[in-house]
Amino acid sequence: MTREVWDTLYAEANLLHRNVSDLAAFLPFPKAEFQDDTPVKPDPLCNNMLMDTSISETPYPDFRDACFAAAPFGWWRDTYRDTPIGDRLHAHFGTFEILGRDTPLKADGMRAFLIYQRAGYHYPMHHHPAEEIYLVLAGEASFEREGHASQTLGPGATAFHPEGVPHALTTDQSAILAYVLWRGDLHTKPVFTYPEQLS
Ligand code: FE
Repeated sequence: MTREVWDTLYAEANLLHRNVSDLAAFLPFPKAEFQDDTPVKPDPLCNNMLMDTSISETPYPDFRDACFAAAPFGWWRDTYRDTPIGDRLHAHFGTFEILGRDTPLKADGMRAFLIYQRAGYHYPMHHHPAEEIYLVLAGEASFEREGHASQTLGPGATAFHPEGVPHALTTDQSAILAYVLWRGDLHTKPVFTYPEQLS
């Protein structure tokens, strides 16, 4: 049962990658090997995501449905749990890995994540050595990248974050659902850029 869910998600991610030129230009889509050794790590935010009507419209319904089918079996990350704003952040922002390392779909050279952020939250400036591309699947958010004007992006838009460049994500009336790819340094976690400003 779970195997089928992940196989479907792999097939849908592959199709999406073929159809969205910015993703295809970022990296070739990797082969994956199914390994059922990743524990499920649930998060209450998963249910919020599944019921959130502000992200119900998407140009990619098959991919979204495949992500939502896998979400209850995902390993939801706790990247910032031990920081001063960790509990509040993770009550609003959640992510699980689709393809790469902490997922049954093991692949080399790329990590892919589903990202969900509830309405009305500011995810502060953070950075990581991996290069990153966001594809907005549904909803919208303001994307900030240090040194650039912020941009509000909706479904179908992509945003690129170069190696080590601080970026932030702010939602207003709507939540955002996004697909995120990493290349380069795949193992160094994101950190807040200005930890002294967190409150
Ligand atoms: Fe990032």
